[in-house]
Amino acid sequence: MPEASGQKSSGQEFSGTGLKVAVIGGGVAGLAAALALRDRARAQGVDLSVTVFEKDTETGGNLRTLNQGGWQFEWGPNGFLDNEPATLRLVDRLGLRPRLLRSSDATRRRFLLVNGKLQEIPLSPKAFLSSKMLSTRGKLRMAGELLVPGRKDLGRAATDLATDETIDRFGERRLGREFANVMLDPMVKGVFGGESKQLSLAAAFPRMVELERDHGGLFRAMITLGREKRRKGRRTDAGPTGVLHSFDGGMAVLVDGLARALDEDAQAEVVRGADVSAITRDADGWRVSWPGGERGGFTAVLDAAPSHAAARHTAALDPALSADLAAIPYAPMAVIALGYPRDKVDHDLNGFGLLVPGQEKRTALGVLWSSSIFPGLAPDGRVLLRCMAGGAGNPGVMTLGDDELVKRMLADLGPLLGLRGEPELVNIIRHARAIAQYVPGHLARLAAIDAAAARHGSLWFAGSAYRGIAVNACVKESEAVADKILAALTGARPLSAEVAR
Ligand SMILES: Cc1cc2nc3c(=O)[nH]c(=O)nc-3n(C[C@H](O)[C@H](O)[C@H](O)COP(=O)(O)OP(=O)(O)OC[C@H]3O[C@@H](n4cnc5c(N)ncnc54)[C@H](O)[C@@H]3O)c2cc1C
Repeated sequence: MPEASGQKSSGQEFSGTGLKVAVIGGGVAGLAAALALRDRARAQGVDLSVTVFEKDTETGGNLRTLNQGGWQFEWGPNGFLDNEPATLRLVDRLGLRPRLLRSSDATRRRFLLVNGKLQEIPLSPKAFLSSKMLSTRGKLRMAGELLVPGRKDLGRAATDLATDETIDRFGERRLGREFANVMLDPMVKGVFGGESKQLSLAAAFPRMVELERDHGGLFRAMITLGREKRRKGRRTDAGPTGVLHSFDGGMAVLVDGLARALDEDAQAEVVRGADVSAITRDADGWRVSWPGGERGGFTAVLDAAPSHAAARHTAALDPALSADLAAIPYAPMAVIALGYPRDKVDHDLNGFGLLVPGQEKRTALGVLWSSSIFPGLAPDGRVLLRCMAGGAGNPGVMTLGDDELVKRMLADLGPLLGLRGEPELVNIIRHARAIAQYVPGHLARLAAIDAAAARHGSLWFAGSAYRGIAVNACVKESEAVADKILAALTGARPLSAEVAR
């Protein structure tokens, strides 16, 4: 392993008497937290330097945009919703607003595969009633949600395993078995690459728990919040809102902007090629080690690498903490980009894409019509499809060879979309550990991790393994954790109490 290289011209460690924070992991969470720390320290007149340690030679983690002969596709996320102020603040901080790309309006149209046929997901209750999405019985059961009493035990601590219901169980209880199978299962596959029967509602979709607790049910919540909205004449947050955005140049633009801002900051450093193996403590403070190097004297450590990596980093320091970190499972995912000449695809692809419920027994979890979402991702006269396969429910897919994977995607999706002939472009990205799975007990595990970190003092964790898997959640959490770290190091009150210890 070559000696890792810092980006500062001196290549030297920071000296002086100021506070020194080590951030491990140069994905969006680590980079955003490092920048937030520097910005806040500067604003408060605190002498604080940040060193980010990144395993790879490039920063960005899952946010990586690939270009190939006029095609542009994403390694990980294909965008973020514009409903999270923290991300938009970051976009402005980096001067990236002019490069923001709004997804096309057609993306409001989304499809599900139901009984072998594509069905457009209705956008209004009236359209839902006349759709073929559910049987009459299924629709009636769904409407009966109004009569299902709210759970009495929802006021109990969120970390209580006894009340930690799966998404599937919640869906069945409130909206019926058919709704859970046809609507919830594919949605969870699409967002988490996960199984609704295996994920905790409180950890994955805490807003749903709040709506039931505060309003007695989902429809009741919609009615009350809808009334409030009309009364106040403004938007409420009864459900996920927002428009998908990316950048001209793709999602890499965001992390490249972050890395640039840190590289240009005299009191920040990004050490690339440092595959951290351990964080330990000695008389000088925290020490970060990797094969080929080590740095010491840190006042605080924020580990923003994936939790399985954080588990390795803390194995010697605290085996119980390490075991909790290691216990957070990840789902694997294969992302298969297929490019076609427009005239070889019969479907109009006027929409976002389609999701496939497990009961349809296909290999594909879904497909995004990427070049419809963000025009410009395919060369003229071409279309780009982004298929997903694997997930927690079908990890065996990851062992399939490339040809077999493409064959299965074409068998699943070809007839639905009218794909004719061979794709002109094939690109397969295999994520062995794509997305953290918030299984029942996740919130209790987070509480244990937080308690252990607090015992060590000035040790923190952030990233998609913990409190939200989306880019937005990572950025929001990174601001909050930066506030907490600074407050802890300076004895000030935190600006934000969102990452509670
Ligand atoms: C296929 C896919 C599709 C997705 N789609 C969306 C989407 O559409 N919208 C959305 O909002 N989110 C989406 N996500 C989730 C999104 O990618 C994550 O929220 C985000 O990338 C998490 O950022 P992070 O910094 O926590 O982790 P990562 O991006 O995993 O970054 C962690 C960093 O830590 C580094 N690291 C690991 N080990 C070490 C070590 N030992 N030492 C030093 N560094 C180390 C890694 O190299 C990496 O750079 C998707 C994810 C995947 C995989």
